Amino acid sequence: MNGRLQDKVAIITGGASGIGLASAERFVAEGAKVVIADINDAAGRQVEARHAGALRFRSCDVAVDADVEALVAFAIETFGRLDIMFNNAGIQGDRAGFTEIEATSFDAMLRLLTGSVLSGHKYAARQFRRQNSGGAILSTTSAAGLLGGYSNLGYTAAKHAIVGIVRAATFELAPYGIRSNAIAPGVTVSPIMASSFGVPAEHADAFQDFIAERCAVLQPVPRAGRPRDIANAALFLCSDEAEWISGVVLPVDGGGTAITHCDP
Ligand code: NAD
Repeated sequence: MNGRLQDKVAIITGGASGIGLASAERFVAEGAKVVIADINDAAGRQVEARHAGALRFRSCDVAVDADVEALVAFAIETFGRLDIMFNNAGIQGDRAGFTEIEATSFDAMLRLLTGSVLSGHKYAARQFRRQNSGGAILSTTSAAGLLGGYSNLGYTAAKHAIVGIVRAATFELAPYGIRSNAIAPGVTVSPIMASSFGVPAEHADAFQDFIAERCAVLQPVPRAGRPRDIANAALFLCSDEAEWISGVVLPVDGGGTAITHCDP
């Protein structure tokens, strides 16, 4: 099926790599105009050059509220409206545990991973209300936003908090026709995941088999996720096919969060 996002305008943060990039390319293929936002200017500009006309890059640090406000303004200047806000950018962050973590480091992770999602909701919802159009907001949490034991402390806490924002937004914004959902990827081959296996980001593709083998024990569907697996779910939740779906957190994880990893 083509044209599932025909004439929609979408913003995707973290769109220069991994899940955000796969989603941006899928959204464009389905007829959307897309602004990708990222701190990686070189990668973002390369993606923009491959999709002249339908996709624009905007340099943006999602941890900075004013950057997200300017990002929404850029999408309006460029494409005239906004229909979809996909809050996806993220990092693994400080791996310190409870006895070592510094408050400043924990706060910075919450600002980047969760505060960015709040900013995305705030400025997208303002624009949707200005347009009187409704709109779709999607945010990337994680299997680590649903369960402990998947990732580091700060990441786990910040990703859980995204679920709270999505549920609060569903309650507050539904009267304006604005939907808010989340996707919770399981282990998915991308630079961020490669780094958590000690593989340098630039070698993530070459190490797909290595990562997939380690993931097979975590996920009943015995392979690592691919960015396009997550992009497929994002496409559905951002499209009008999901017009009666709000407040859900959809695991896209090969069944990982459906099972316990204990083997009694
Ligand atoms: P990735 O590293 O390939 O992509 C993340 C992108 O976000 C990069 O382009 C990076 O430059 C950008 N970014 C980082 N900090 C930013 C900032 N402050 N402002 C703007 N952009 C910034 O990783 P990915 O796997 O595609 O991750 C995308 C999202 O999926 C993240 O939120 C991540 O936590 C989440 N996630 C990933 C996995 C996985 O296994 N890969 C699993 C669960 C959740």
